[in-house]
Amino acid sequence: MLDNLTQRLAKVVKTMRGEARLTEANTAEMLREVRLALLEADVALPAVREFIGKVKEKALGEEVVGSLSPGQALVGVVQRELGALMGADLGPEAAQLSFAQQPPAIILMAGLQGVGKTTTVGKLAKYLREQKKKKVLTVSADVYRPAAIAQLQSVTGQAGADFFPSTAQDKPVDIALSALDWAKKHYHDVLIIDTAGRLGIDEEMMKEIAAVHGAVKPVETLFVVDAMLGQDAINTAKAFNDALPLTGIVLTKLDGDSRGGAALSVRHITGKPIKFAGVSEKLDGLEAFDPARMANRILG
Ligand code: GDP
Repeated sequence: MLDNLTQRLAKVVKTMRGEARLTEANTAEMLREVRLALLEADVALPAVREFIGKVKEKALGEEVVGSLSPGQALVGVVQRELGALMGADLGPEAAQLSFAQQPPAIILMAGLQGVGKTTTVGKLAKYLREQKKKKVLTVSADVYRPAAIAQLQSVTGQAGADFFPSTAQDKPVDIALSALDWAKKHYHDVLIIDTAGRLGIDEEMMKEIAAVHGAVKPVETLFVVDAMLGQDAINTAKAFNDALPLTGIVLTKLDGDSRGGAALSVRHITGKPIKFAGVSEKLDGLEAFDPARMANRILG
């Protein structure tokens, strides 16, 4: 078992009780521990560096008040900064979806294969239908895997939403435009477009999803990322963020036992709010993202 950050810091600060302020000297060793904790949580190195830099800047000169030890004071700074980085300062609206004034509001889903895109479409459809009373249509622009289209049909049915059929012979842009046309004619409030994912970053896939984006101009472009993803999260996030104007992130598989350092890496690269968390394979396993909880989880 890994120690949590407070325990780890407690070990290194025994020798420095009674100091009134956090200084370069009394925080150096503790910052090393913070850095290690983040690396163990699988946060990518550039994100760790930036974060440590910020904590250092905020911590130096901070008063150690009352009965707190310098370690506890530093943990406070780390928690505050990590919460802010996770989006605590963005306010609860950050986790809300935007709905276009002129329906249908289009939500485009992006991400690698296997991260949970299709499942998340089902979860969103269910949430929008039941909680927001929206009439929802889904469509799959994954023309490479017929099984993916069938899977979307199945989860859409379970969510009680409408499904627009597509086939492997169609082109993704045409599929998206046809579905949009159908949604307009049938007064859907929301159209969710699922897209193909590859196992790795792929130039063609990026061009294709950018073309779909250009054709339908979604109000939300959600990047779906697996919380279990380690250091690689940063490269994937960069590729999608460069290819598409993302509006938000969905972090899936938070029910797994990873610390979820991917959250920090993805925020570091995109700066976009994490709107939802996936917490089970079932369609009710979608929660509004909680920045403070995520910060605690990353710190262990
Ligand atoms: P896609 O290829 O990105 O569309 O991914 P899928 O939606 O097919 O999901 C891949 C696997 O991850 C499936 O077995 C899902 O049941 C599972 N999955 C998706 N979201 C979650 C989640 O939040 N928690 C867990 N435990 N599993 C999930």
